[in-house]
Amino acid sequence: MEDIQTNEKVDVERIASLLHQQRMHKPAMLRLSAKDRIERIKRIKKAMFDYREEIQDAMYKDFKKPPVEVDMTEIYVIINEANDAISNIKKWMRPQRVPTPINMLGTSGKIKYEAKGNILIIAPWNFPINLVFGPLVSAIAAGNTAIIKPSEFTPHTSTLVEKIIDDIFNKNEVAVINGGVETSTELLKKRFDHIFFTGSPKVGKIVMKAAAAHLTSVTLELGGKSPTIIDKSANIKQAAKKITVGKFINSGQVCISHDYIFVHRSKSEVFVKAFKENITSIYGKDASTSDSYTRIVNRGNAKRLASLIDEVKEKAGDKITYGGDYDIENCYVSPTVILNPDNDLRVMQEEIFGPIIPIIEYDDIDEVISYINKGEIPLAMYLFSNSSTTIQKIRDYTNSGSLNINETIIHFNNSKLPFGGNSNSGMGKAHGYFGFKAFSHEKGILQQHLPFSAIDLVMPPYTKASKFWADIFLKYF
Ligand code: NAD
Repeated sequence: MEDIQTNEKVDVERIASLLHQQRMHKPAMLRLSAKDRIERIKRIKKAMFDYREEIQDAMYKDFKKPPVEVDMTEIYVIINEANDAISNIKKWMRPQRVPTPINMLGTSGKIKYEAKGNILIIAPWNFPINLVFGPLVSAIAAGNTAIIKPSEFTPHTSTLVEKIIDDIFNKNEVAVINGGVETSTELLKKRFDHIFFTGSPKVGKIVMKAAAAHLTSVTLELGGKSPTIIDKSANIKQAAKKITVGKFINSGQVCISHDYIFVHRSKSEVFVKAFKENITSIYGKDASTSDSYTRIVNRGNAKRLASLIDEVKEKAGDKITYGGDYDIENCYVSPTVILNPDNDLRVMQEEIFGPIIPIIEYDDIDEVISYINKGEIPLAMYLFSNSSTTIQKIRDYTNSGSLNINETIIHFNNSKLPFGGNSNSGMGKAHGYFGFKAFSHEKGILQQHLPFSAIDLVMPPYTKASKFWADIFLKYF
């Protein structure tokens, strides 16, 4: 919860030297067998256990993240991701046969996943272990080197990340460069083979522009406003319970957090009552005294959230139906519920990324669909409903990075599902096999098994026979 460093000194020489070492080591990494890759991923998994307490301490110092929450949303996620890779790398690496079209008779085709090479991973602060080691597992599974730039907003955890990586990897394979925007900018000037960026859409655009200078591919894991819909057929109590946990975990500083809720007018009163009761029963009347409530990462972000609350207080104070308190000095913002805010308020326009939640009553699901479709494509969407018609409508008539039906943010932990946004919420996918593919080039390999092929029939010089065969190809193959 310290304020951010400025005028940072960028270690230009160290960046150049580490990248040079990793470039030299790239051919050796490309040749790593499945066994070699598994051995490296096991080191990451072991480190999660070995450093468990240090990670908990660092994150408590950074933003009072409760230790159990660190276990479940940081360490456990990496153990899961590592286990999936360890069990499946062999299968993922195996060249995949593709069918041979009739005009290619005599040949066979395969896809080989080839490591992209030298990777840059830029991470945000909100899950400073999860969003560093998660992509790293996938990068190593695919046989790459990596330079990691953790966030400057969580100094204790980012320093520890460097210590862990130094402990378990040689620098020519994986290295950490800590720093802020200037360091990130210097790294982005360099040529990498792929950049995996997790952060805001605003910085995502900067990353993509920098990558374009080298024609480097990117995975952008971004954010945005993720809607939640509760229709009249939903189990309201269950929805209230799940959303309370999903919204206030990490104090709402979660990319897939419930950003705002649409609730059917006929169920609004019951839902709001249950939701508020749940908040009080989990965090007490004053969440600042709760050991389960994470703080805002720094005063800058606490101030931003306070200004969102102040705007509502100023223009429509009576719409704050729960909370609305803050203490910027101590990076505290209370769980805050706003009922039916006007759409021009900043809480309805910006990604909230904190413990504030607007609830809007609706009458017709089509109005909700049209509202959502007018905005940017969200990273996640949550639907609480027991109506197959509503489920089908939301699934088929809206776009989102992912859709959760009758559940909160737990889809992040299913490594069999692709994770990532679309358009303003990101591009490319992470987790499990999808993460492996993000860091791999799919090389198409064709092999001829005969001394001739059908295509020889239309090779130059072009004769009447070539024309005859061209006609046959166009008509029949
Ligand atoms: P951010 O974009 O401000 O920073 C992310 C990283 O980029 C940091 O390491 C930072 O040092 C670097 N950076 C910041 N400004 C830069 C610049 N001008 N040039 C180069 N690098 C720069 O994001 P944040 O505040 O750390 O995290 C919050 C955002 O991240 C939210 O929008 C959230 O939704 C998103 N997020 C997305 C995911 C996901 O998986 N999709 C996960 C977590 C957070």
